[in-house]
Amino acid sequence: MKCVCGNKLQEIKTDMDFFDGKVIVRGVNALYCSECKEELFDSKEGDKISEQVSILHIIQPFESRKKIAKVGNSYAIPVSKEIAEYMQAKKGGEVLVKVQSQKRLIVDFA
Ligand SMILES: [Zn+2]
Repeated sequence: MKCVCGNKLQEIKTDMDFFDGKVIVRGVNALYCSECKEELFDSKEGDKISEQVSILHIIQPFESRKKIAKVGNSYAIPVSKEIAEYMQAKKGGEVLVKVQSQKRLIVDFA
């Protein structure tokens, strides 16, 4: 396979990091162009990466303890920037809040 610059691409194994290095996926198959210093991934590998990242999300930085805040007559639970970005949350966006039990609250972003 050739790069857009015409240089021959090398098959390499690389590490990819997400969320400022909090999540690292190791041994990703990629194609590297020594001219452009560019790493390319095919879509199959891309799917594998996003699958691994989403698994890691749940286990690693996406679990955190928060203090409940009071805003007027309501209570607010702070959501970190990483979670907000992952959930594609926007200020003013709507969520569906469901009480599942006295110990569990479900927030649907959709
Ligand atoms: Zn190139």
